[in-house]
Amino acid sequence: MKIAIVCVDDEQLILRSLRDQLRQLLGDGYIIALAESGEEALSVLADLEKSQIPVPVVICDQMMPKLSGDRVLSQIHALYPQIRTVLLTGLAQLDNIIHAVNHANLYRYLSKPWNAIDLELTVREAVRSYFQDQQLIRQNLALCKANQELEALNNNLEQQVEQRTAELQQQAATLRSSKEAAEVANHAKSEFLANMSHEIRTPMHAVLGYSELLDMTNLDTQQREYVQRITNNGKALLAIINDILDLSKLEAGKLELDASEFDLQEIIQSLTWIFQPQATAKGLALTTVIAPDIPQQLFGPAQRLRQVLTNLLNNAIKFTRSGQVVLRIERQTPSEEAAQIILCFSVQDTGIGIAPTDQERIFSPFTQVDTSSTRHYEGTGLGLTICRKIIQIMHGEMGVESSPDKGSTFWFTIALQQPQVPTAEPPTLVAAHSTTTVASTEVEPPPRILVVEDIESNQQLLIQMLKHLGYPAEVVSNGQEALIQLAEHPYDIVLMDCQMPVLDGYETTRRLRQSEDEQHRTIIIGLTAHAMLGDREKCLEVGMDDYLSKPINFQTLSTLLEHWSARLRT
Ligand code: ADP
Repeated sequence: MKIAIVCVDDEQLILRSLRDQLRQLLGDGYIIALAESGEEALSVLADLEKSQIPVPVVICDQMMPKLSGDRVLSQIHALYPQIRTVLLTGLAQLDNIIHAVNHANLYRYLSKPWNAIDLELTVREAVRSYFQDQQLIRQNLALCKANQELEALNNNLEQQVEQRTAELQQQAATLRSSKEAAEVANHAKSEFLANMSHEIRTPMHAVLGYSELLDMTNLDTQQREYVQRITNNGKALLAIINDILDLSKLEAGKLELDASEFDLQEIIQSLTWIFQPQATAKGLALTTVIAPDIPQQLFGPAQRLRQVLTNLLNNAIKFTRSGQVVLRIERQTPSEEAAQIILCFSVQDTGIGIAPTDQERIFSPFTQVDTSSTRHYEGTGLGLTICRKIIQIMHGEMGVESSPDKGSTFWFTIALQQPQVPTAEPPTLVAAHSTTTVASTEVEPPPRILVVEDIESNQQLLIQMLKHLGYPAEVVSNGQEALIQLAEHPYDIVLMDCQMPVLDGYETTRRLRQSEDEQHRTIIIGLTAHAMLGDREKCLEVGMDDYLSKPINFQTLSTLLEHWSARLRT
C-alpha cells in the first residue's frame, strides 16, 4: 500500500529539495505530493482521498503569500483531523506556531533551515503515530460493533429468559391446576369406591349371613351344596370388592399398614392350612422352607404380609397343573444385626410360567396374560398390582423370575422389626379373643343386647343370629332412637352400625359416653361395612370397645359375644 506525504510551499525550489530529501530519507515507499499554495494542497488531498491513498503527514511552510501556513494547516485539520500537521517556520514566528497548535492540532514545527535527521525522525514518528491511531480507530470500531452485537444478544437473551420464564410459570400454573383437578377427581373416586363398597357390602352381608344361617338348618345334601355355592360365590365377590377398595386406597395413599407384633410361624401355618386342600385337590406338593435364623416373633404389618402371601400362593396353585409350590423365607441381613431385619419371601411353582415380555406387564392393574375367551383362570388382574404397591409402601421390592412351561418364582423383600421386649399384655380385640367357649347362658342370664342398624334385612339377620346364639335382643333404626332407648332401658351390649342416617354410630357413641358414668358403662361394638384397617382405630377413638366388620361371620360374632359376656361377669 502506498502512503502519501504532502509538502506545501510557495517556493518551488524548497519544495523540490524537500521532496528529494524525503525520498532519500524514507525510500520509495512514499508518494511525495507537492502543492504551491493552500488551495492546491486541499485539492491534492481531495484527489488522494478519492484514490484511497492515506496521507499521514502534511508539511507546510508558514510564509506564503495568499494563505499563511498555520491557516492552511487549520483548514486541513478541520477537514482531515487524522492528518499529522508539521509547520516549517523560523523561530521568530512564535504567534503563528501557537495559532497552529491551537487550530491545526500542530504535531510539530521544524525551523528553517531544517535538520535532515530531525525531518526524518519527525516524519517517521508522525507516520507511526498516524497508523497507530488508525489501528486504534479500527479496533475501537470493532469493539463498538462487538459491543453492539453483545448488547443485541443480551437484549435477545433477556427477552428469551422473560419469555421462557413466562412459559414456565404458565406451565407450572397449568400443572398445578391439573394436579388439583386430579386430586379432586381421585378423592371423588376414593369416596365413590368407599361408598359403593358400603352399598355392595350391605346386601352381601345379608346374603352371606343368611346362607350361613341356612347352612345350620336341616338340609339335604343337594340343598347344602347349593347353599355352600352361594356362600363361596359371595365370598369371592367380597374379595373382588376388597381388592378394588384396596387399590383405590393405595392410589390415594390412604392404606394403613397397621403394624403389630406377630408370630411368623403362625401366619405360615394358617396359610398352609388354607391352601393345602386346594393343592392336594390338584395333586400338587405344597411345602414351606423357613431358614433357621429367622425369629418367630416379629413386629410389622402382619395383615398386609398375609395378604401378599395369600395372593402369591393362590396364583402359584392356580397357574400350576402338576409338580410343586414352595414357599421360602430367607434372611438378607446377618443374624447379629440390630433390631431391623430384612426378609426375602419367595413363592416358587412348576406352573405355566410367564413370557419375558409379560413379566413386567402383569404388575399393572387389570392385566392378565391370558385374556382369550377360552381363558380358564379366574381373577381380576388386580392382585399383583396391589401386592407390589403394598410392598413398595413397606419400602420393599417385588419381582418375578419365570420361564414359560417351566414355572415362576415371585419374590419380595421387606424390613421387619424384632420386638425388644416379649409382650405379655392380653390383646383386647376380636382377633385375639380366646376361642375357649364360656358357657355363659347356663350360669347367668345372658346380656341384654341392643342392635342399632338402619337396614331392615341386616336387622333381621342380626336378630336371627343372636337368637341362634341365645341372646335376647331389641332393635332400633338409628343413633337418635338408640340414645332414647338407652336412656329408658339398661342394655349390656350395643351392636352399633357405624354408617346410619339421622345420627351415625360414631356420633351416637360419643354422645353416649359423655352421658354415662364409669360404673354403668355400656359395651359398644361397632359394625362397619368398610372393613378397612383404619376403621378399627376410628371405632376405638370415639369410645367403642370392639369392632366387627361386615359381612358378619356367625362364628366371629359368637366368639366376640362370649368374650364380652365373660367380661361383664367379672
Ligand atoms: P389375577 O390372578 O387375579 O388375574 P394377578 O394380578 O394376581 O391377577 O395376576 C395377573 C396375571 O399374572 C395373571 O392373570 C396371570 O396371567 C399372571 N400370573 C400371576 N401369577 C402367576 C404364576 N404363578 N404363574 C403364571 N402366571 C401368573
